[in-house]
Amino acid sequence: MSITITNVRAILTAPEGINLVVVRVDTNQPGLFGYGCATFAYRALTVRSLVEDYLRQLLIGRDAEAIEEIWQLVHQNAYWRNGPIENNALSGIDMALWDIKGKLANMPLYQLFGGKVRAGVPVYRHADGRDIEELCSNIERYRSQGITHIRCQSGGYGGGGFGLAPAGSPDGAASGVYLDPRGYMRATEAMFDTIRSRIGEDIELIHDVHERLQPIDAIRFAQALEKFNLFFLEDAIPLEQGDWLRELRAKSSIPIAQGELFNHPLEWRNLITERLIDFIRVHLSQVGGITPSRKLQIFAEQFGVRTAWHGPGDMSPFAHAANIHIDLAARNFGVQEWSGTEPPNSVIQELRGPRDALLDVFPGLPEFRQGYVYPNDKPGLGVDFNEAEAAKYPCEHGVTTWTQTRLRDGSLHTP
Ligand code: MG
Repeated sequence: MSITITNVRAILTAPEGINLVVVRVDTNQPGLFGYGCATFAYRALTVRSLVEDYLRQLLIGRDAEAIEEIWQLVHQNAYWRNGPIENNALSGIDMALWDIKGKLANMPLYQLFGGKVRAGVPVYRHADGRDIEELCSNIERYRSQGITHIRCQSGGYGGGGFGLAPAGSPDGAASGVYLDPRGYMRATEAMFDTIRSRIGEDIELIHDVHERLQPIDAIRFAQALEKFNLFFLEDAIPLEQGDWLRELRAKSSIPIAQGELFNHPLEWRNLITERLIDFIRVHLSQVGGITPSRKLQIFAEQFGVRTAWHGPGDMSPFAHAANIHIDLAARNFGVQEWSGTEPPNSVIQELRGPRDALLDVFPGLPEFRQGYVYPNDKPGLGVDFNEAEAAKYPCEHGVTTWTQTRLRDGSLHTP
C-alpha cells in the first residue's frame, strides 16, 4: 500500500519571542507524520496561508515517499519560482518528507546522507559587549564551554538600536537604526587588536559585516583585518553587489563567507565554480529545505568550498536539526553557527532559565556539549513538537524595526 499525504498544516509559535513556522505533513499510515521548518519570522502569516490555502490541496493524495518529485512539483506550481515566501513554505514540506523518510527507514537522517564523517559538529557562538571588557569576558565564557570558534562584534553591526535620528543628521530625517560605517571599521580593527593581544592566537575568530559597507570600503576593511588571521569574514559585500567579490578575492587573502540571503541557485553557482568564496552559508529554509541544500553541499565539495550554514534564532529546531544532520555527513563541512536555541538576554531565559521554553515545545532538539552539537539517534530529524505547549506562546505580527537601517543623512541602507 502506497504511503500518501493526508494533510498539511502550518503551526505558528514563538517560545522565545521569535515567530517560528512549523509544517506538519500527515500520511495515511497510523502514527507516521513529519515536521519541517518554514520559518520566515517577519512574514509568518503569509507562509502559513501559502501552505494551508494552496499547497495542502496540491499535496493531499500524493506519494509521501517521492521527495524529489514533490519538491519540483511545489517549486514550479505557481509558475514564478523561488523567493523567500515560496521557498520557506516548500522547505517546511521538504523537511517533513525527509523526516518521514527517516522514520520509514528507522534511521536518523545523517545515515541517509551517507553516515557520519565526524563524531560531533563544532559550532560557533556570537560574542558581543558594550565595551571591550564585556566582550573579552564573553569570549572567555564561551571558551570555558569548549567553544573554539567565536564571532566577535562590538555593538552589533555598527549601528545602535532603533530610535530618533542622531545629532548631525539633517532636519526631518526619519527614525531608524543609524549606522556609521567608517567609524565601525575603525572600532572593529581596534577590537580585534585587543582581542588578539589579550586572548592570543589559540582561538578561531569570525566577524560579520552584515553588508553594511560600501564595496571598496569592504575591500580595505578585509585588508586591514588580514593580520588578525580570521577564520572567515562574513557578508562583506552586499547581495546586490556580488560581482565585487571578484575584486575582494583578488585584493585580499581573508577567507570569505557569504550566502545567508541567497534563495536562488544562480546566486551561488558562479561564486563556487570560480572559487570566489570559501564558505557557503545559506539558510536552509530560505533555499527550499534539505533537498536543495544537500545538492549545494555536494556541489560545493567539488570546488573546495566548505559549508557554514546560517543558524540564527529565527529558525525552528527542525531547521537546526537539519543543519546538524547534513554537517555530520559532509566532507566539506567548515563550522556551524549555533545561536538559535539560547538567545542571550532573552526574557524567557531570564524568567525560566536557558532553553526551557524551546525544549518544552520542541523535545529532542540537538544537544550542545563542550563545543560540539550532537543530534539524538531517533529516526528522521529526531525532534518532536508539542502543540499544546506551542499554543502557550502565540506569535505577534507587528512590523519589525531593526531592518530600518539608515545612514547619517537619513537615507536607508540594507540591514
Ligand atoms: Mg550573518
